[in-house]
Amino acid sequence: ILKGRVAVVTGSTSGIGLGIACKLAAGGADLVINGPGDVPANEALCREIAKVYGIRVAFGAADLSNAEEAIELIGNATDVMGRVDILVNNAGIQPADSALTSAAQQWDATIAVNLTAVWLTIRAVLPQMLERGWGRIINVAPMWADAGNKSAAQASKYGVIGLTKDVAVDLVACGVTCNVICPGWVPIPPVNTTGSDAAPRNGRRPKTRRRTPVGELQLSYELKAPDQLGSLAAFLCSDAAAQVNGVTLPVDGGWLGQ
Ligand code: NAD
Repeated sequence: ILKGRVAVVTGSTSGIGLGIACKLAAGGADLVINGPGDVPANEALCREIAKVYGIRVAFGAADLSNAEEAIELIGNATDVMGRVDILVNNAGIQPADSALTSAAQQWDATIAVNLTAVWLTIRAVLPQMLERGWGRIINVAPMWADAGNKSAAQASKYGVIGLTKDVAVDLVACGVTCNVICPGWVPIPPVNTTGSDAAPRNGRRPKTRRRTPVGELQLSYELKAPDQLGSLAAFLCSDAAAQVNGVTLPVDGGWLGQ
């Protein structure tokens, strides 16, 4: 259902971002993978994904704490792939700091990656989406974004929810939607990039109702959560979700239901 679409997924060399990228690839989308770290290793990951899913995959090494690089990520992706139809703002950092102990530098760095880069990439990609009358913007923020304990991470992710709603309202009836996926606590196993349903290599099978660092709040414990978040992202990119706009979608194993 995503054949012919091009998706940029930030922070997609590991974890939830990689899970989302693989599900979009499984739907036929071409990909731009982004993340810091070892470029040859990341390029090898791109080649593996391209081979498994039979799609085009490019690597964008942008460091999203740098505003210019965040904007260039979209420009370079458009140059290399010809277009960007789907933007998933997944990259994030969450230093454990309180408002009293947060150092100014740490605060700025967190806001830069978690919030400013989201605004910049959205602003960079919107003109082409609006011109074609089709686009999907999916942001990722924890379902605990509006309940404190991590200062800058909290403030930035709550800001992402506000920005999402603002963009969605601006874009009504333009064929472009903007939503937030809000995971609960997600244990990150090695993500299965093979396209099969088999457990990831080196992955541990979970015990059901395992105790988590968030205590008993999250009722389920699910090894395949990045896959499931990816499936939700793929749904948001489908025509069936054309009217889903400006919403936060918790994927929290029953947390909010209590
Ligand atoms: P993760 O650390 O594996 O993913 C974060 C990604 O962001 C990594 O790929 C990292 O390389 C990338 N990143 C960090 N700084 C960057 C920078 N300056 N430039 C480019 N990329 C950068 O952790 P994750 O759990 O997969 O988190 C992904 C997203 O999901 C984050 O936004 C996080 O806030 C959110 N989230 C995670 C959980 C959880 O329990 N794991 C829960 C709720 C929300």
